[in-house]
Amino acid sequence: MTIPPPGRPNGLRRGTNLGHVAGFNDSVILSYIRAAKSGTSRSDLRTATGLAPQSVSDICQRLLDQGLIAETGTSTKGFGRPRVTLEIVPSSRYALGIHIDPATVTSVLLDLAGGLVAHYSTDIDPDDPGLVIEQMAPTLDALLEQTGVDRSRVVGLGLAVPGPIDAEGGTMVDPPHLPKWHHERLRERLGAATGLSVIVDKDVVAAAVAERWAGALAGVSDAAFLYLGSGVGVGLITDDLVVRGHTSNAGDIGHLMVDTMGPLCDQGHRGCLGTLCSPLHLVREGVARGALDPTPHDGELGHAVRRLAALRERVDGGNSAAREIVEETAHRLARAVGIIANMHDTQMVVCGGPAWAPLADLYLPTLHEQAARAFSMSSLHELEVSGTDVGADVAAIGAACLVLDERFATRPSSLLLG
Ligand SMILES: [Zn+2]
Repeated sequence: MTIPPPGRPNGLRRGTNLGHVAGFNDSVILSYIRAAKSGTSRSDLRTATGLAPQSVSDICQRLLDQGLIAETGTSTKGFGRPRVTLEIVPSSRYALGIHIDPATVTSVLLDLAGGLVAHYSTDIDPDDPGLVIEQMAPTLDALLEQTGVDRSRVVGLGLAVPGPIDAEGGTMVDPPHLPKWHHERLRERLGAATGLSVIVDKDVVAAAVAERWAGALAGVSDAAFLYLGSGVGVGLITDDLVVRGHTSNAGDIGHLMVDTMGPLCDQGHRGCLGTLCSPLHLVREGVARGALDPTPHDGELGHAVRRLAALRERVDGGNSAAREIVEETAHRLARAVGIIANMHDTQMVVCGGPAWAPLADLYLPTLHEQAARAFSMSSLHELEVSGTDVGADVAAIGAACLVLDERFATRPSSLLLG
């Protein structure tokens, strides 16, 4: 996150001096203090928010009383009196996040500043949803115990899951890569097991939110996060807002056509992104072209994701078939990035996820070159393409950010803390 410029930083809202919106104004002030990493003063807050001096003073006192902010020193500007510096207290509140991937479950603990306090990642048996869900609450307990964080300071739990979801019911419906999972009532079960309020959102939305809060998308109003895991998806931010769609399931780009000569997918479409960029396809091609030795588990998703590292090693070792497979995939990804960016007049596309990480630096040069060439708005503004800043835990971190966002930003998912 960057320190906001004077005035109105991108993504932050002005306060209002109407009496009945104290909660809104408290959030606005807290957002500014959080965004100003090296601290800010009451005077700067007045200028930035347009709120009356007494309102700013009252709100700061409330935030101080709750322990959310602290007075950390003084600073002088020009010939004026020294000003008291206000800073967020990261250890005053925490949020938990879990990402359920078809191969792995990752749990994280974030502090109020969005800092990663602890994380735990484990491979799962995707065919036993009952056991996977049962193990989540004890894992979170262990994270809190190891870090010595008091449960009373945890404001909630966010879950990032593969779509489609029933957002209202907090249910994971029928994820295509988890055939044994049907209508899992995650909010209800995790709420009962942890005593916390639980938010359920799509993994791609969570990843975009994480990147917006703490990564490459901080301060970017129109962006996309291209998620490459067992499947593919895109999280979109338009005009500073996360795009969720009618049932919170926007971003399914698996059937985007990226190769007119490609094979048919299970629904009979040709050359789909979801098929051609899946770890299963890359490993299958690797074996078929002699770049990888066959193993009995090559048809299993989790195994295929892990084998991408071996494919990477073959490229580094000079294997031309492995290089060809990676280059083909990079071109297909670039086509998808170009289409997404043209549809949404996007400033920046960030890529990440477990199937991105092992091959990221091999994909990026093609993505930069091809996506820029396909971008229709290039005479008006540049399209930036980059890898995730947040790293492998991006969706789990995003899940916890969603909790902080709902609890402390001026309205849910408004992403005011850029
Ligand atoms: Zn398809």
